[in-house]
Amino acid sequence: MASMYIHIPYCERKCIYCDFFSVENHASMDRFLAALNDEIELYAIRYASAEPVETVFFGGGTPSLVSPSAIGKIMDQISGQFRLAPGAEVTMEANPGTVTPDSFRGYLDAGINRMSIGIQSFQRNELEFLGRIHTAEQGEQAVRDAFNAGFTNVSVDLIFSLPGQTRSRWMDTLQRALDLRPVHVSAYSLIVEEHTPLYTMVQKRLVTPISENIDATIYESTMDVLARNGYRHYEISNYALPGYECRHNLNYWNHSNYVSFGPSAHSFWRTSQTTARRWWNDRSIEKYCAGIETGAAMPGGEETIDRLQMIDEAIFLGMRCGRLDLERLRNEFDFSFPERQAELLRSFVKEGYLTFNKYVITLTPKGFMVCDALTEHLMQ
Ligand code: SF4
Repeated sequence: MASMYIHIPYCERKCIYCDFFSVENHASMDRFLAALNDEIELYAIRYASAEPVETVFFGGGTPSLVSPSAIGKIMDQISGQFRLAPGAEVTMEANPGTVTPDSFRGYLDAGINRMSIGIQSFQRNELEFLGRIHTAEQGEQAVRDAFNAGFTNVSVDLIFSLPGQTRSRWMDTLQRALDLRPVHVSAYSLIVEEHTPLYTMVQKRLVTPISENIDATIYESTMDVLARNGYRHYEISNYALPGYECRHNLNYWNHSNYVSFGPSAHSFWRTSQTTARRWWNDRSIEKYCAGIETGAAMPGGEETIDRLQMIDEAIFLGMRCGRLDLERLRNEFDFSFPERQAELLRSFVKEGYLTFNKYVITLTPKGFMVCDALTEHLMQ
């Protein structure tokens, strides 16, 4: 099962916390779309016959800055060059400040069947602090418009643990999101990434990050509220009604093959049962376009992933999904935890962090809260 990712490197305005590659100047958009079209063709020569494409994801950046007709042309190119599986999941990220009822209908006609809407918050002061270009009301309207246009698979993205945020203010945002009945919720704890304006503000002590205690309290309440509303916690930051887990992300987390297009996009392809190659494009529209225009798809960088790295990644990704498949580790990588790790696991069970049998380790909500620390112990 293969996946495909398309990176649209444009935003209306950069949000202060974001370290994804995107630019505010859209002058290069036509040149970028032409290069993207060619890049898809270049990779098709090598990868199109390997596996059908089961999932496509338009991310960014802000894919909803690209018109429905241009998205339709990209979809035509993908289905013309690759084998798009019947029933493939095709996701697009949308910013509420860039969509209309008509554009949602256009994206549906273009072949998008899953809409992921970047709401982040329903609090005016938080949206302003983050540098978002939309209001809370536009966020709500975007979700309604997506459903009204005919999308049944609508996800919302939210961010919690903003500086100065209280649990009750976050609960208000979460409840307003749930009132819209999305089938999927991504709720991320704010991370202060290097090289962002937020990082500089924290360094200059203009902003104080929220305490670990409040972050933990908010996360615990989030898991609890979403579980009570029927959403399954299937990854550290992702929750879905039954059957609406994001298949694209599950493919990433299961080490499935994927090819990605656009500046900064990362690809991953197995070279054997236990090894893989990862490569990525430059974080520069100029370099990306110039490279493709020479007629060759030259990665900006690449690495070989050996068996031990694959095992580490499988443990890390499995734990983040709250479900580490021990049988897969044995069958795919001929790996079992040594006895000292088994002892550690038994102590984690006593502490209430997880349960395990010979096939699978399953995290409890308490375990999700310390997932990184548990994973570190297991990977030692
Ligand atoms: S709209 Fe999304 S991709 Fe663009 S800067 Fe904001 S968070 Fe980043």
